[in-house]
This record gives sequence, structure tokens and C-alpha cells, in this order.
Amino acid sequence: MRLEQLGAELHKHIKGDTLMIVTDETVADLYLDRCISTVSDGGFEVHAFVIEPGEHSKNGDTYLALLGALAEIPLTRADGIIALGGGVVGDLAGFAAATYLRGIPVIQVPTTLLAAVDSSVGGKTAINLPEGKNLAGAFHQPAFVCQDTSLLATLPEEIYLDGMAEVIKYGIIADADLLTQLQDPDYVKANLDDIISRCVAIKKRFVEEDEHDTGVRQMLNFGHTIGHAIEIASDFDIRHGFAVAKGMAYMAEIAARENWCDVATRDAIIHILETYHYDLSVDFDKEALADIMGKDKKRKGAFLDLVVPTAIGSCRLQRISAEEIERLL
Ligand code: NAD
Ligand code: MG
Repeated sequence: MRLEQLGAELHKHIKGDTLMIVTDETVADLYLDRCISTVSDGGFEVHAFVIEPGEHSKNGDTYLALLGALAEIPLTRADGIIALGGGVVGDLAGFAAATYLRGIPVIQVPTTLLAAVDSSVGGKTAINLPEGKNLAGAFHQPAFVCQDTSLLATLPEEIYLDGMAEVIKYGIIADADLLTQLQDPDYVKANLDDIISRCVAIKKRFVEEDEHDTGVRQMLNFGHTIGHAIEIASDFDIRHGFAVAKGMAYMAEIAARENWCDVATRDAIIHILETYHYDLSVDFDKEALADIMGKDKKRKGAFLDLVVPTAIGSCRLQRISAEEIERLL
């Protein structure tokens, strides 16, 4: 759906008459005027809350300032929030929507590839604490997601590739045909809308079966346990998607070595990642990575469930003990 159609669409989801658009400065320069126009053409009163771009804005201070701005208007429970931006805006606005007046509707308008295929789907919202990422949050499904893929045309290549790692992940864990399409990066750019829809359908399938992330939703963590450890070890110098790319390659090597998958599956995973020129090297001490993985928030007591590819398009969980991690790495 084009952003210009959002104003009319809102009536299906918002009973009130006021919307707060949350966005960041970069996205505001590009798309805020268009978003304000469509919302006000839809007959709504519209406000905007603009944050600094970047992960550091997903914090308690910005969150409280946003709640304050909502209360000042004041937004009622019938009104809503529009998250216009990437995952930072989506998570922050989503968490504010989940908690303001014990919950008001949020509409997601993803403007990054990662937000389109991942953070705008599934209802996880959060802010970071000084102690770690996403430590305060809530499950709050968006009332509507406006997927206007043309908004992604302005993405810098690095941010695009950051999201592409998640797209590749979907192909590996659940959709061999998608992985075949991804072999051609030009085809992907020309057909991005279809590719995104396919990824969203996969994520929805996993989420609907397991909204609160205690079962099959964990498959979406392929490459993420090692990837997270790499992100942390790099002090977040390595962006999430690039770390997940390394994590997927590393996991593929482990899986082939342990006979959890065949060598052809490993090679196909490495090949698709190399097609997008991800740097797959991991220059961190194995002991340090194992130590970080042992503290992973998704750990179950003394165990960790790793997502293991079994073939292209399928995967399973492999439970390992904390002591086993270092041997595997
Ligand atoms: P981001 O929101 O910081 O966006 C990345 C950069 O791209 C920003 O500088 C932004 O200003 C810029 N940008 C956004 N849209 C643009 C556009 N159309 N053109 C040009 N520039 C644009 O980062 P992200 O990668 O989208 O999201 C990362 C966040 O998402 C993390 O905080 C992560 O925890 C969260 N996340 C949440 C979920 C979930 O399920 N809720 C899933 C994955 C990730
Ligand atoms: Mg991810």
C-alpha cells in the first residue's frame, strides 16, 4: 500500500480522531510531510515526535519523553500512534503504544528492510536499558502495517544489506524457492515488494503458532545466538545483520562438522552469503564468544537451543549444554 493511502485506511483501525507520528530525523526529512498530509487528509488531527536517529534513542529517557508528549495532547485510548521508520522507531513507538493508558493502537510504517521483514511483524516492542538491549518491552501487535516498499529506495546500501541478512535467514530456515530467487541481487531489488511479502508470511506463520516465543518462533533465531555474541564482542561495532550473517555461516560450518546437515547445505548457505559480499570472518576469541553465549537471554537454565539447518528450507532446534558451546565453536 502506498503511504498516500494510509489516511483513508486508518479509519478501519482508529476510532478516535488524533494520531501521533513517531519518526527519526533522517526519515522525517524524507517522509514526514507526506505522512502528515495523508493522515490529515484522512480527517485526523496529527502530531509528530521526532527522535535522533540511531540505537541510542531507544532508551528510557526518550520513551518517557514520548509518553509525556502523548499525555500532553492528550491522546485517548481510541487514538493511535504511527511508527514511521526503522526498527528503532518501531520498537520505541510500539512500546509506548503498549504501555500508554495500558495500551493504544500502533500502526507500523516500516522504512528499512529490517523493519519491513522483521521488526514490524510479530508484536515485539522494547527499549534498551543501560544493562542491555531490549530488556524492557511488551508484546503488542500492530493494528496495521503499511508496507510501502518505495520508501526503501532511499536506504544506504549498508542499511539495506543489514536487513538482507534476515531475508536470507528466512530462505534458509523455511523457503528454498525464496533462497533461489535471492541468488540474483538485481532480481531482488526489482521485486522487493514480493520478496518482503514472502518473508512477512514466513514470520507470521512462525509467530501465529507461537506468539510468545517458547516454541517454533525460536527458529527465527537462526544465526542469532552466535551473531549476538559477535555483536556484543565487537561492542556493537558490527551491525546486527552483518553479525547474523557471520553467525549463520559459523552455524553452517558447525552443523556440517557435527553431521547435523550435509556439506551441500553448508556450501549453499556460505554461497548465498558470499553473493551479497558479507564478511564471514570471525576474529574473536572462542572462549569469549562461548562466555557471552552462556549468558544469552534465550538460554534455558544450563542449556541453549541452537537453530540448526537440516537442509535448505528446513531447520530444527538442537539443545546443547553450556559446557558444550566452547567445543562446538
Ligand atoms: P534503525 O531504525 O536505526 O534504522 C537504521 C538507519 O536507517 C537509521 O539511521 C535511520 O534513520 C535510517 N533510515 C530509516 N529508513 C530510511 C530510509 N527509508 N531511507 C534512508 N534512511 C533511512 O535500524 P533498523 O535496522 O531498522 O532496526 C534496528 C532495531 O530493530 C534494533 O533496535 C533492534 O533491536 C530492532 N528489532 C526489533 C525486532 C522486533 O521484533 N521488534 C526485530 C528485529 C530488530
Ligand atoms: Mg535479527
